Amino acid sequence: MTESDNKIVVLDGYTLNPGDLSWDRLKGFGELEVYDRTPPEEVVQRIGDAQIVFTNKTPLTEELLTAAKNLKYIGVLATGYNVVDVAAANKLNITVTNIPTYGTASVAQYVFALLLEICHHVGSHSDAVRKGAWENCPDFCFWNYPLIELAGKTMGIIGFGRIGQNTARIAQSFGMKVLAYDEYPNKAFENEQLKYVALNELFKQADVISLHCPLFENTRNIINEKNISSMKDGVIIINTSRGPLIDEEALAAALNSGKVFGAAVDVVSAEPIKGDNPLLKAKNCIITPHIAWAPKESRTRLMEIAADNLEKFLTGTPANIVSV
Ligand code: NAD
Repeated sequence: MTESDNKIVVLDGYTLNPGDLSWDRLKGFGELEVYDRTPPEEVVQRIGDAQIVFTNKTPLTEELLTAAKNLKYIGVLATGYNVVDVAAANKLNITVTNIPTYGTASVAQYVFALLLEICHHVGSHSDAVRKGAWENCPDFCFWNYPLIELAGKTMGIIGFGRIGQNTARIAQSFGMKVLAYDEYPNKAFENEQLKYVALNELFKQADVISLHCPLFENTRNIINEKNISSMKDGVIIINTSRGPLIDEEALAAALNSGKVFGAAVDVVSAEPIKGDNPLLKAKNCIITPHIAWAPKESRTRLMEIAADNLEKFLTGTPANIVSV
């Protein structure tokens, strides 16, 4: 197969490149078709006889992969690759790659954007000032929410990979202690302020819980009614990983009862969010539209690594392969 024979289809390129980046490097590997987004019923026809497909969040199920007769390579334009049936792809001899590391700094930074919003509600206080609340205040200051200091508190990090570790470094710089839970603990990361613990211990001790494990069957609903009941009263929960890690009904009930003081999620079970998502009406819950990954700096890295991954696949030295 020469490069000019390659047909490359990007199924949902808009969020990676809404116009401020370039597809030129991918164009260099063959005939490139970029779709902003692709509804499920058009996936088969758009892939057609292409050998190479890129998806960010367009699901590629076994049925769709079986229909894509020439497909040899799927580049996931993200770190989490749960949109692809990787077992089916492996069976069909289709190589699947993901993009680790591109968003490590952005996502860890965003965890603190969310957490600090819960601690200080900066946006809402600024809005209140503009609406005259300070001008009309009898005192030199006012606050509309309890304000929270992080120093001395304990952050529990579930999934201690790249983003989890970066989040831990930032937490430690705020003076927080860190408890980590990972299926594959690496004791070399431990220090006076950072220890691996069992999951139930993390739930028992953490003041703030931040999710950084991938979505697998054994992590789905890892935040559920039973686990929430074992957490500290007034715990804060942050999710920048994948929505289905949380049983949203259970979290909404715990927010409304005050068991969970506050939550901030950048990801929900179905995206875009559905109007009946229980978190939309829950107390003290911040929801943002899956933007932790999206600063231009990290999207630029993502585009470069996507092209590197394809180049390495085409030259017989594949990298960042995911399998089951
Ligand atoms: P990573 O692979 O470096 O780390 C994942 C960690 O989770 C690994 O250490 C792994 O051992 C651990 N793990 C696996 N199974 C586990 C389990 N059952 N219980 C506990 N830990 C388990 O990945 P990363 O770069 O740190 O990214 C983590 C996740 O963040 C991704 O899977 C993705 O879903 C999400 N993400 C979200 C955004 C966003 O915009 N919101 C952007 C990038 C990544």
